[in-house]
Amino acid sequence: MQGSGRGTRVIGLGGVKIGGAHPVAVQSMTNTDTRQVKRTLAQIRRLAKAGCEVVRVAVPDADSAAALKEVVAGSSLPVVADIHFDHKLALASLAAGVHGLRLNPGNLRSRRALKEIIRAASERQVPIRVGVNAGSIARDLRNKYGGATPEALVESALEHLRLLEDSGFEAIKVSLKSSDVMSTVASYRLMRQVRDYPLHLGITEAGTAFQGLIKSAAGLGILLAEGIGDTIRVSLAADPVEEVRAGYGILRALGLRRRGVEGIACPTCARARLPVIRTASLLERKLADIAAPLTLAVMGCAVNGPGEARHSDLGCVGTVKGIQVYVKGRRAGLVPAEGLVTWMLETARDLAAEAVGEEDGG
Ligand code: SF4
Repeated sequence: MQGSGRGTRVIGLGGVKIGGAHPVAVQSMTNTDTRQVKRTLAQIRRLAKAGCEVVRVAVPDADSAAALKEVVAGSSLPVVADIHFDHKLALASLAAGVHGLRLNPGNLRSRRALKEIIRAASERQVPIRVGVNAGSIARDLRNKYGGATPEALVESALEHLRLLEDSGFEAIKVSLKSSDVMSTVASYRLMRQVRDYPLHLGITEAGTAFQGLIKSAAGLGILLAEGIGDTIRVSLAADPVEEVRAGYGILRALGLRRRGVEGIACPTCARARLPVIRTASLLERKLADIAAPLTLAVMGCAVNGPGEARHSDLGCVGTVKGIQVYVKGRRAGLVPAEGLVTWMLETARDLAAEAVGEEDGG
Protein backbone atom coordinates (compact mmCIF):
# COMPACT_ATOMS: atom_id res chain seq x y z
CA MET A 1 0.00 0.00 0.00
CA GLN A 2 2.85 2.28 0.86
CA GLY A 3 3.83 4.45 -2.03
CA SER A 4 0.83 3.46 -4.13
CA GLY A 5 -1.00 6.59 -3.12
CA ARG A 6 -4.34 6.89 -1.45
CA GLY A 7 -5.81 9.22 -4.00
CA THR A 8 -5.88 12.23 -1.70
CA ARG A 9 -4.52 15.69 -2.32
CA VAL A 10 -1.22 16.63 -0.77
CA ILE A 11 -0.76 19.36 1.83
CA GLY A 12 2.40 20.45 3.60
CA LEU A 13 2.78 20.96 7.33
CA GLY A 14 6.17 22.60 7.63
CA GLY A 15 8.47 20.09 5.95
CA VAL A 16 6.05 17.16 6.33
CA LYS A 17 3.87 16.22 3.39
CA ILE A 18 0.49 14.70 4.12
CA GLY A 19 -1.64 12.87 1.57
CA GLY A 20 -1.16 11.31 -1.86
CA ALA A 21 1.59 8.71 -1.83
CA HIS A 22 3.35 10.17 1.20
CA PRO A 23 3.84 7.91 4.21
CA VAL A 24 1.07 7.98 6.80
CA ALA A 25 2.37 10.56 9.27
CA VAL A 26 2.30 10.06 13.03
CA GLN A 27 1.05 12.92 15.18
CA SER A 28 0.51 13.64 18.82
CA MET A 29 -0.54 16.53 21.00
CA THR A 30 1.19 18.12 23.96
CA ASN A 31 -0.59 17.97 27.30
CA THR A 32 1.52 20.60 29.01
CA ASP A 33 0.30 24.13 29.70
CA THR A 34 1.20 25.85 26.43
CA ARG A 35 2.15 29.00 28.36
CA GLN A 36 4.94 27.03 30.02
CA VAL A 37 7.26 27.15 27.06
CA LYS A 38 10.14 25.16 28.54
CA ARG A 39 7.93 22.28 29.63
CA THR A 40 6.09 22.29 26.32
CA LEU A 41 9.34 22.23 24.35
CA ALA A 42 10.73 19.47 26.57
CA GLN A 43 7.68 17.37 25.76
CA ILE A 44 7.98 18.14 22.05
CA ARG A 45 11.62 16.97 22.18
CA ARG A 46 10.54 13.68 23.78
CA LEU A 47 7.82 13.28 21.16
CA ALA A 48 10.28 13.98 18.33
CA LYS A 49 12.70 11.42 19.76
CA ALA A 50 9.92 8.84 19.72
CA GLY A 51 9.31 9.58 16.03
CA CYS A 52 6.43 12.04 16.20
CA GLU A 53 6.24 13.98 12.93
CA VAL A 54 3.69 16.70 13.67
CA VAL A 55 2.73 18.07 17.06
CA ARG A 56 -0.51 19.82 18.00
CA VAL A 57 -0.65 22.35 20.76
CA ALA A 58 -3.83 23.65 22.39
CA VAL A 59 -4.28 27.40 22.30
CA PRO A 60 -7.05 28.13 24.79
CA ASP A 61 -6.23 31.79 25.49
CA ALA A 62 -4.22 34.84 24.46
CA ASP A 63 -1.31 33.97 26.77
CA SER A 64 -0.98 30.58 25.12
CA ALA A 65 -1.04 32.23 21.69
CA ALA A 66 1.66 34.65 22.87
CA ALA A 67 3.82 31.71 24.00
CA LEU A 68 3.52 30.03 20.60
CA LYS A 69 6.24 32.09 18.95
CA GLU A 70 8.84 30.64 21.26
CA VAL A 71 7.31 27.17 21.03
CA VAL A 72 7.41 27.23 17.23
CA ALA A 73 10.96 28.61 17.22
CA GLY A 74 12.18 25.91 19.60
CA SER A 75 10.31 22.98 18.07
CA SER A 76 11.97 20.60 15.64
CA LEU A 77 8.48 19.44 14.60
CA PRO A 78 5.82 21.31 12.65
CA VAL A 79 3.39 22.82 15.14
CA VAL A 80 -0.39 22.82 14.67
CA ALA A 81 -2.39 25.25 16.80
CA ASP A 82 -5.64 23.85 18.11
CA ILE A 83 -8.22 26.65 18.19
CA HIS A 84 -11.84 26.72 19.16
CA PHE A 85 -14.23 29.62 18.50
CA ASP A 86 -11.86 32.58 18.87
CA HIS A 87 -10.57 33.89 15.55
CA LYS A 88 -8.11 36.24 17.30
CA LEU A 89 -6.30 33.21 18.69
CA ALA A 90 -6.09 31.78 15.19
CA LEU A 91 -4.64 35.02 13.82
CA ALA A 92 -2.18 35.28 16.70
CA SER A 93 -1.12 31.66 16.12
CA LEU A 94 -0.55 32.31 12.43
CA ALA A 95 1.48 35.39 13.29
CA ALA A 96 3.52 33.23 15.68
CA GLY A 97 4.49 31.04 12.72
CA VAL A 98 2.50 27.84 13.29
CA HIS A 99 2.56 25.34 10.44
CA GLY A 100 -1.07 24.30 10.70
CA LEU A 101 -4.38 25.24 12.27
CA ARG A 102 -7.06 22.98 13.64
CA LEU A 103 -10.22 25.01 13.55
CA ASN A 104 -13.85 24.56 12.58
CA PRO A 105 -14.91 27.54 10.48
CA GLY A 106 -18.59 27.16 11.35
CA ASN A 107 -17.81 27.80 15.01
CA LEU A 108 -16.40 31.28 14.38
CA ARG A 109 -18.54 34.26 15.21
CA SER A 110 -18.59 35.85 11.78
CA ARG A 111 -17.79 35.37 8.12
CA ARG A 112 -15.50 38.35 8.35
CA ALA A 113 -13.45 36.63 11.04
CA LEU A 114 -13.17 33.56 8.82
CA LYS A 115 -12.10 35.66 5.84
CA GLU A 116 -9.30 37.21 7.91
CA ILE A 117 -8.07 33.77 8.93
CA ILE A 118 -8.23 32.45 5.38
CA ARG A 119 -6.26 35.43 4.12
CA ALA A 120 -3.55 35.03 6.78
CA ALA A 121 -3.38 31.23 6.34
CA SER A 122 -3.17 31.55 2.54
CA GLU A 123 -0.39 34.12 2.74
CA ARG A 124 1.63 31.79 4.95
CA GLN A 125 0.58 28.61 3.12
CA VAL A 126 -0.74 27.16 6.34
CA PRO A 127 -3.31 24.36 6.03
CA ILE A 128 -6.41 24.10 8.16
CA ARG A 129 -7.77 20.89 9.63
CA VAL A 130 -11.51 20.72 9.92
CA GLY A 131 -12.02 18.37 12.82
CA VAL A 132 -15.50 17.19 13.66
CA ASN A 133 -16.09 15.29 16.89
CA ALA A 134 -19.23 13.32 17.63
CA GLY A 135 -19.51 15.10 20.98
CA SER A 136 -19.84 18.52 19.39
CA ILE A 137 -22.27 17.95 16.53
CA ALA A 138 -24.86 20.73 16.32
CA ARG A 139 -28.31 19.95 17.68
CA ASP A 140 -30.10 20.42 14.33
CA LEU A 141 -27.92 17.74 12.76
CA ARG A 142 -28.45 15.42 15.72
CA ASN A 143 -32.18 15.88 15.38
CA LYS A 144 -32.09 15.36 11.63
CA TYR A 145 -30.11 12.11 11.85
CA GLY A 146 -31.27 10.84 15.22
CA GLY A 147 -27.91 11.36 16.92
CA ALA A 148 -24.26 11.85 16.05
CA THR A 149 -24.41 9.27 13.25
CA PRO A 150 -21.72 8.97 10.57
CA GLU A 151 -24.01 10.87 8.18
CA ALA A 152 -24.36 13.66 10.74
CA LEU A 153 -20.59 13.84 11.22
CA VAL A 154 -19.95 14.03 7.50
CA GLU A 155 -22.66 16.63 6.94
CA SER A 156 -21.25 18.69 9.79
CA ALA A 157 -17.77 18.48 8.25
CA LEU A 158 -19.15 19.45 4.83
CA GLU A 159 -20.80 22.54 6.32
CA HIS A 160 -17.44 23.65 7.71
CA LEU A 161 -15.64 22.70 4.51
CA ARG A 162 -17.99 24.69 2.29
CA LEU A 163 -17.14 27.82 4.22
CA LEU A 164 -13.49 27.33 3.28
CA GLU A 165 -14.19 26.14 -0.24
CA ASP A 166 -16.43 29.15 -0.96
CA SER A 167 -13.36 31.31 -0.39
CA GLY A 168 -11.23 29.15 -2.64
CA PHE A 169 -9.20 27.77 0.27
CA GLU A 170 -8.15 24.19 -0.38
CA ALA A 171 -5.18 23.46 1.88
CA ILE A 172 -7.45 21.34 4.01
CA LYS A 173 -7.29 18.19 6.07
CA VAL A 174 -10.31 16.54 7.64
CA SER A 175 -10.95 14.45 10.74
CA LEU A 176 -14.22 12.89 11.89
CA LYS A 177 -13.71 11.46 15.31
CA SER A 178 -16.02 9.52 17.54
CA SER A 179 -15.31 7.34 20.55
CA ASP A 180 -17.29 4.59 18.83
CA VAL A 181 -15.02 2.58 16.57
CA MET A 182 -17.42 1.44 13.87
CA SER A 183 -19.12 4.82 13.71
CA THR A 184 -15.72 6.43 13.14
CA VAL A 185 -14.92 3.89 10.42
CA ALA A 186 -18.25 4.54 8.67
CA SER A 187 -17.74 8.32 8.87
CA TYR A 188 -14.33 8.24 7.21
CA ARG A 189 -15.56 5.87 4.51
CA LEU A 190 -18.40 8.27 3.71
CA MET A 191 -16.12 11.30 3.68
CA ARG A 192 -13.69 9.56 1.36
CA GLN A 193 -16.51 9.21 -1.17
CA VAL A 194 -17.34 12.89 -1.27
CA ARG A 195 -14.02 14.73 -0.91
CA ASP A 196 -10.37 14.00 -1.67
CA TYR A 197 -8.81 15.99 1.14
CA PRO A 198 -6.19 14.16 3.18
CA LEU A 199 -7.70 12.49 6.21
CA HIS A 200 -6.44 12.68 9.77
CA LEU A 201 -7.52 9.50 11.56
CA GLY A 202 -8.23 9.06 15.22
CA ILE A 203 -10.63 7.52 17.66
CA THR A 204 -11.39 10.31 20.08
CA GLU A 205 -11.44 9.87 23.83
CA ALA A 206 -10.31 6.31 23.15
CA GLY A 207 -9.36 5.64 26.75
CA THR A 208 -6.35 4.64 28.79
CA ALA A 209 -3.15 3.30 27.25
CA PHE A 210 -4.48 -0.26 27.08
CA GLN A 211 -8.14 0.32 26.12
CA GLY A 212 -7.33 3.23 23.87
CA LEU A 213 -4.73 1.28 21.97
CA ILE A 214 -7.14 -1.58 21.33
CA LYS A 215 -9.87 0.73 20.06
CA SER A 216 -7.47 2.74 17.94
CA ALA A 217 -5.78 -0.34 16.48
CA ALA A 218 -9.18 -1.81 15.57
CA GLY A 219 -10.61 1.35 14.00
CA LEU A 220 -7.50 2.76 12.37
CA GLY A 221 -6.51 -0.73 11.26
CA ILE A 222 -9.71 -1.19 9.26
CA LEU A 223 -9.42 2.20 7.58
CA LEU A 224 -5.69 2.07 6.87
CA ALA A 225 -6.03 -1.43 5.42
CA GLU A 226 -8.62 0.02 3.02
CA GLY A 227 -6.19 2.74 2.00
CA ILE A 228 -8.02 5.43 3.98
CA GLY A 229 -6.00 7.76 6.18
CA ASP A 230 -3.02 10.04 5.57
CA THR A 231 -2.01 10.87 9.11
CA ILE A 232 -2.94 9.42 12.48
CA ARG A 233 -3.12 10.31 16.11
CA VAL A 234 -3.70 7.57 18.64
CA SER A 235 -5.50 9.48 21.41
CA LEU A 236 -4.62 7.98 24.78
CA ALA A 237 -5.20 9.09 28.34
CA ALA A 238 -1.46 8.60 28.88
CA ASP A 239 1.94 10.17 28.25
CA PRO A 240 1.73 11.45 24.63
CA VAL A 241 4.96 9.58 23.85
CA GLU A 242 2.86 6.42 24.20
CA GLU A 243 0.60 7.76 21.44
CA VAL A 244 3.56 7.95 19.10
CA ARG A 245 4.77 4.44 19.96
CA ALA A 246 1.25 3.13 19.50
CA GLY A 247 0.94 4.93 16.16
CA TYR A 248 4.06 3.30 14.81
CA GLY A 249 3.00 -0.04 16.22
CA ILE A 250 -0.26 0.11 14.27
CA LEU A 251 1.41 1.26 11.07
CA ARG A 252 4.13 -1.38 11.43
CA ALA A 253 1.57 -4.14 11.93
CA LEU A 254 -0.09 -3.08 8.68
CA GLY A 255 3.20 -2.91 6.80
CA LEU A 256 2.83 0.85 6.23
CA ARG A 257 5.81 2.15 8.20
CA ARG A 258 8.91 0.57 9.66
CA ARG A 259 10.36 2.26 12.67
CA GLY A 260 11.81 0.92 15.87
CA VAL A 261 12.00 -2.57 17.29
CA GLU A 262 9.28 -5.01 16.35
CA GLY A 263 9.21 -7.67 19.01
CA ILE A 264 8.25 -11.24 18.23
CA ALA A 265 7.78 -13.49 21.25
CA CYS A 266 5.98 -16.74 21.87
CA PRO A 267 3.35 -16.91 24.60
CA THR A 268 5.43 -19.64 26.31
CA CYS A 269 4.23 -23.02 27.50
CA ALA A 270 5.59 -26.02 29.41
CA ARG A 271 8.29 -26.46 26.74
CA ALA A 272 9.89 -23.05 27.33
CA ARG A 273 13.61 -23.19 28.04
CA LEU A 274 14.14 -19.50 28.59
CA PRO A 275 12.13 -16.85 30.50
CA VAL A 276 10.45 -15.42 27.39
CA ILE A 277 8.01 -13.01 29.04
CA ARG A 278 10.58 -11.35 31.28
CA THR A 279 13.26 -11.24 28.58
CA ALA A 280 10.98 -9.92 25.83
CA SER A 281 9.46 -7.23 28.09
CA LEU A 282 12.86 -6.09 29.29
CA LEU A 283 14.27 -5.89 25.77
CA GLU A 284 11.21 -4.00 24.52
CA ARG A 285 11.55 -1.43 27.29
CA LYS A 286 15.32 -1.00 27.01
CA LEU A 287 15.28 -0.71 23.24
CA ALA A 288 12.30 1.66 22.96
CA ASP A 289 14.57 4.53 21.88
CA ILE A 290 15.85 2.77 18.76
CA ALA A 291 14.54 4.37 15.58
CA ALA A 292 16.03 1.98 13.04
CA PRO A 293 13.65 -0.80 11.96
CA LEU A 294 14.65 -4.05 13.64
CA THR A 295 12.84 -7.32 14.22
CA LEU A 296 13.73 -9.15 17.40
CA ALA A 297 12.48 -12.63 18.32
CA VAL A 298 12.45 -14.19 21.78
CA MET A 299 11.26 -17.80 21.56
CA GLY A 300 10.91 -20.39 24.30
CA CYS A 301 11.90 -23.59 22.52
CA ALA A 302 12.85 -25.28 19.30
CA VAL A 303 9.27 -25.95 18.15
CA ASN A 304 8.72 -22.61 16.41
CA GLY A 305 11.79 -20.81 17.68
CA PRO A 306 14.39 -21.36 14.96
CA GLY A 307 11.98 -20.39 12.17
CA GLU A 308 10.97 -17.12 13.84
CA ALA A 309 14.52 -16.33 14.90
CA ARG A 310 15.87 -16.93 11.40
CA HIS A 311 13.33 -14.54 9.93
CA SER A 312 14.25 -11.80 12.38
CA ASP A 313 17.21 -9.47 12.50
CA LEU A 314 18.03 -10.79 15.91
CA GLY A 315 16.67 -13.79 17.80
CA CYS A 316 17.15 -16.12 20.70
CA VAL A 317 15.69 -19.58 21.24
CA GLY A 318 15.75 -21.84 24.30
CA THR A 319 17.09 -25.28 23.31
CA VAL A 320 18.24 -28.42 25.14
CA LYS A 321 21.84 -27.31 24.57
CA GLY A 322 21.29 -23.77 25.88
CA ILE A 323 20.17 -20.48 24.39
CA GLN A 324 20.80 -20.37 20.70
CA VAL A 325 21.10 -16.87 19.23
CA TYR A 326 20.62 -15.76 15.65
CA VAL A 327 21.81 -12.64 13.83
CA LYS A 328 20.38 -11.75 10.43
CA GLY A 329 19.06 -15.25 9.88
CA ARG A 330 22.25 -17.06 10.86
CA ARG A 331 23.08 -19.02 13.99
CA ALA A 332 25.54 -17.03 16.06
CA GLY A 333 26.28 -19.51 18.83
CA LEU A 334 25.06 -20.30 22.34
CA VAL A 335 24.81 -17.57 24.97
CA PRO A 336 24.69 -18.26 28.73
CA ALA A 337 21.31 -17.46 30.28
CA GLU A 338 22.73 -14.87 32.68
CA GLY A 339 24.36 -12.94 29.85
CA LEU A 340 21.48 -13.15 27.37
CA VAL A 341 19.86 -9.75 27.94
CA THR A 342 23.19 -7.91 27.79
CA TRP A 343 24.18 -9.76 24.63
CA MET A 344 20.84 -9.06 22.97
CA LEU A 345 20.94 -5.37 23.92
CA GLU A 346 24.48 -4.88 22.64
CA THR A 347 23.83 -6.75 19.41
CA ALA A 348 20.54 -4.90 18.83
CA ARG A 349 22.34 -1.57 19.23
CA ASP A 350 25.10 -2.67 16.81
CA LEU A 351 22.50 -3.70 14.25
CA ALA A 352 20.57 -0.46 14.75
CA ALA A 353 23.75 1.56 14.18
CA GLU A 354 24.35 -0.35 10.92
CA ALA A 355 20.77 0.21 9.85
CA VAL A 356 20.89 4.00 10.28
CA GLY A 357 20.65 5.43 6.84
CA GLU A 358 18.40 2.65 5.61
CA GLU A 359 15.85 3.72 8.15
CA ASP A 360 12.23 4.27 7.42
CA GLY A 361 11.83 4.56 3.70
CA GLY A 362 8.17 5.21 4.42
FE1 SF4 B 1 5.78 -23.23 23.79
FE2 SF4 B 1 7.98 -23.43 22.33
FE3 SF4 B 1 5.75 -22.44 21.21
FE4 SF4 B 1 7.06 -21.02 22.97
S1 SF4 B 1 7.84 -21.69 20.98
S2 SF4 B 1 4.87 -21.37 22.97
S3 SF4 B 1 7.82 -22.54 24.38
S4 SF4 B 1 6.06 -24.52 21.98
